Amino acid sequence: MQILDGKALSSKIQEEVALEVTELRKKTGRTPGLAVILVGNDPASHAYVAMKKKACDKVGFYSVTHEMPADISQDAIEKTIEMMNLNPNIDGILIQLPLPEQIDTTKLLELVSPHKDVDGFHPFNVGRLTTGLEGFVPCTPLGVMELLEAYKIDVKGMNACVVGASNIVGKPMASLLLNANATVDICHIFTKDLKAHTRNADILLVGVGVINLITEDMVKEGAIIIDIGINRTEDGRLVGDVDFEKVSEKASYITPVPGGVGPMTIAMLLRNTVESAKKRQG
Ligand code: NAD
Repeated sequence: MQILDGKALSSKIQEEVALEVTELRKKTGRTPGLAVILVGNDPASHAYVAMKKKACDKVGFYSVTHEMPADISQDAIEKTIEMMNLNPNIDGILIQLPLPEQIDTTKLLELVSPHKDVDGFHPFNVGRLTTGLEGFVPCTPLGVMELLEAYKIDVKGMNACVVGASNIVGKPMASLLLNANATVDICHIFTKDLKAHTRNADILLVGVGVINLITEDMVKEGAIIIDIGINRTEDGRLVGDVDFEKVSEKASYITPVPGGVGPMTIAMLLRNTVESAKKRQG
């Protein structure tokens, strides 16, 4: 069994992005800029945004966080997005999800300029992804593909099973795998016999948010296991959705949590933003 080390690959990509930032600044005098919209007091959202900000600082981006109270109006967030769409110093706009209930999330995601949509959540970019055209791709599934490529794992012809079908993780993950010519099974909360699907998988990708959802008996011998879930145990440890200890004995490759997909997500956000800056310049 081999560990897919997302932490090491993420550091390498972040170094590459930092070099690109220096180059861009030398050539054009411009610094890539990321704007983050953070609404309410959800501790996890605050922690994720702090991590993203730290990564931006490290590679030399300009970044700004628009912090807003939980009872903010739809209109006020829309105005901020419109401002960021027009701001020439901003190359990427990120709305930290989830948003409070009174807010129409879909409307906000559609308001972000598709050309600054570094999270790849705008229907324009979703459509381009499903048709196999170039565009911004959601950072978590993109990070998974990058990790597979770094370990020379080609999913062509493989049976892939994606567990979790959200717009930000499962669905784009399935599109990327399909575009890479895997045969893709997508499972979710209403799937009747989850084990029948997971056991058939040469590569199993899980992004649900349930500790130990995937146990050893649900995995085929020699399968590649990608654990996208992030959960906190009662004693404060971070774990994924896969019973790592037992499943790793059967797997050929497996991502750890932490240190697997999580750091790749940040690396892809930085890469999407620097690419956006380069395109805007070019
Ligand atoms: P979500 O709640 O939007 O979607 C969860 C999906 O899992 C849904 O499609 C649901 O139908 C399915 N599901 C729920 N219970 C299930 C069950 N018992 N069996 C099968 N399917 C089930 O969540 P999300 O935003 O997609 O996030 C999923 C997980 O991925 C979370 O743990 C989240 O923290 C993690 N995540 C990690 C990263 C990263 O960078 N590694 C990024 C985003 C999300």
